Amino acid sequence: MKYRASVRANATPDQDDRPDQDDRKILVVEDSKTYSLALCRRLTDEIGLPLVACRSLNELHEAVTENRAPYTLAVVDLNLPDAPHGEAIDFTVQRGIPTIVHTASFDIETRNRIMERDVIDYVPKDSAFALDMVVSAVGRALTNRETRILVVDDVTATRKLLARMLRVQQYDVIEAGSGTEALSLLETTPDLRLVVSDYNMPDMDGYELTRRIRRRFPADKLRVIGISSSSDRMVSVGFLKAGANDFISMPFVPEELQCRIASNAETLAQLAQLHELASRDALTGLFNRRHFFEQAPKLIAEAHRRKLKSAIAILDIDDFKQLNDSHGHDLGDRALASVARCLAQSVEGSSTLLARIGGEEFAILFPGLDAKAAMRRSDHVRLDVSHETVTLGAHQVALTASIGVAEIDEDGSFDQALIAADRALYAAKREGRNRVCIQAA
Ligand code: GH3
Ligand code: MG
Ligand code: MG
Repeated sequence: MKYRASVRANATPDQDDRPDQDDRKILVVEDSKTYSLALCRRLTDEIGLPLVACRSLNELHEAVTENRAPYTLAVVDLNLPDAPHGEAIDFTVQRGIPTIVHTASFDIETRNRIMERDVIDYVPKDSAFALDMVVSAVGRALTNRETRILVVDDVTATRKLLARMLRVQQYDVIEAGSGTEALSLLETTPDLRLVVSDYNMPDMDGYELTRRIRRRFPADKLRVIGISSSSDRMVSVGFLKAGANDFISMPFVPEELQCRIASNAETLAQLAQLHELASRDALTGLFNRRHFFEQAPKLIAEAHRRKLKSAIAILDIDDFKQLNDSHGHDLGDRALASVARCLAQSVEGSSTLLARIGGEEFAILFPGLDAKAAMRRSDHVRLDVSHETVTLGAHQVALTASIGVAEIDEDGSFDQALIAADRALYAAKREGRNRVCIQAA
């Protein structure tokens, strides 16, 4: 299940809509029926893409000619009865199908024979983990397509070689011939995840480039990997001290390059996942208090720079304690989840920041809106919540919420606005609940 999730998680909604994403499919070329079945089952469970299985080179020819849409990836056995010398691999590679090789026999000669070809990876079948490794390799190759890498080297031949090796690995690669070009590409290219930089370059060396990158991009957003053909061990030290995450010596051993790049890309993905988990509330899936208080001042400052006011609304479910006391905590939890869903739908498509900031308390920041506009929007939200119900057996339990709104003007602070919104909320409760009140900050 691991890769199914990560493959999907890395695809942006736009990319999911791309037609070629819809007809992604994997080719499995394997003569052993048992192994082929086991592999296909694992790939179906964990990757979730349609598969086409072939048992021989002959069947492979047919499968590739029959299918006019290109295969996304092929997992190919090195030796087949009608293709004993890797002819099936030559066939898929020559047709531009990204190929992962699996092989029963494995020694250094076999490895060299495989690596002569432009394959993504090879997996020996000789261990109990062979299937795990094939599935991981397939998952990685699919996510690599979403990972954008900048390769920086003034020597065109080395840069092209490295870029080519990474493209074989399915990475999205862009190139820069100098540190200056690299820095300008970093400013203009969205979603760059890794920089692989040479040390010796005329305009600025790899250390200086790394230091300048680190001034703008932290290591949890962008990884830097140094490369050099120098035999001086201090070059790697220099890179790491300048803020690089890793170092690779040239000439490259493809497997080392592959593993180091993959491990850095994986670290970034794990950090992004941790960051996502740390900013979400587990019960409702909305942003949590920590995220709200971290992001709101930034959004307010941004609106302020555009000479716009902002406003904040604090929403509190009415008589929630009574709901809990009469119908139980589980129903209370379901009510919270329903209200959260309703709020998310109600503010969907607008540039608001919505979070659960306490037990049955939610906050909505309206960047760029003044008090009047925020009040109107909040009243829509209130009305939407008042149509929410939670099912209790055959009954529907109705819900309402009260909202306090405050404007954040040019001089007023975020903290003052929060106090004012809280006071307005208290007024809304006092005046009978299920209403919106406003207070000057
Ligand atoms: P008011 O209309 O004045 O807001 O009254 P209220 O009962 O909603 O407010 P009060 O602050 O007295 O009670 C809030 C209750 O929310 C008390 C607490 O047990 C409950 N609560 C807080 N967090 C959760 C939660 O995560 N799940 C459930 N089920 N209840 C929660
Ligand atoms: Mg309440
Ligand atoms: Mg409360």
